Amino acid sequence: MQSQIRKLLKLQEVDEEIEKIARELSELPKNLNRKKEQLSQLESDLKEVEKELNEIKGEMDSKEAEQKTEIERKKSLEANLRVIKTVKEYNAIMREIGFAKKAIEEYDRELEELLEELEKIEGEYNRRKEKYDALLKEVTELEEFVNKRIQELQAELEKFEEKRKEFLEEISPELLRKYEMLKNTLPLPVVVPVVDEVCQGCFMNVPPQMYIQLQRAAYGKEESKEIFTCPNCMRIVYYDIEAEVNEEEA
Ligand SMILES: [Zn+2]
Repeated sequence: MQSQIRKLLKLQEVDEEIEKIARELSELPKNLNRKKEQLSQLESDLKEVEKELNEIKGEMDSKEAEQKTEIERKKSLEANLRVIKTVKEYNAIMREIGFAKKAIEEYDRELEELLEELEKIEGEYNRRKEKYDALLKEVTELEEFVNKRIQELQAELEKFEEKRKEFLEEISPELLRKYEMLKNTLPLPVVVPVVDEVCQGCFMNVPPQMYIQLQRAAYGKEESKEIFTCPNCMRIVYYDIEAEVNEEEA
């Protein structure tokens, strides 16, 4: 094989690795960001339920305070009973005590209802909190993993970029220009073998005359300066001696 093509293939290998890393780097945070969004949704839901809980607790506190006032009132009315002088007074106070009793009972009923609702909402809160805690743990672990992986990938990327620079120096500027141009317009690989007259980039036949030229360039003693490109997909093509030999053996 022409040594220039061989060097270009090495460069392409490195570029394929770089592309793979870049793809993973852009994919990595996506799942994490999705889960983070879910987490913040759960968090705001949780706060909403917490607000409801506090409202009910506040309502219960004020009902209890009102009930306490009523209890105090009943107590002082009962104390008054000991100092009354007339039946009329007695009846009036007894009626007041009756009202107070009813009011106290009414508060008991209301407090019981509020307690039931409080317990229901507390159950809902606990369910949501459990879900939130589980997701928080997942997000924390995933974030740790993603950050570690990003560091690994960036270190790998640097290594490949170094390698790339070394390879660049060994390739002729003309061939490199052509390669870079193709790389900007086509997905890798852009340097492909032709096997049995078929371009391995687009899987179309190349002209027979060109196939012979490719073979000549591959087996020739002198380094061929000519760059061959597939007339269909424009990729740089070469004749792969090893692939042909393997095929004959098979
Ligand atoms: Zn092609």
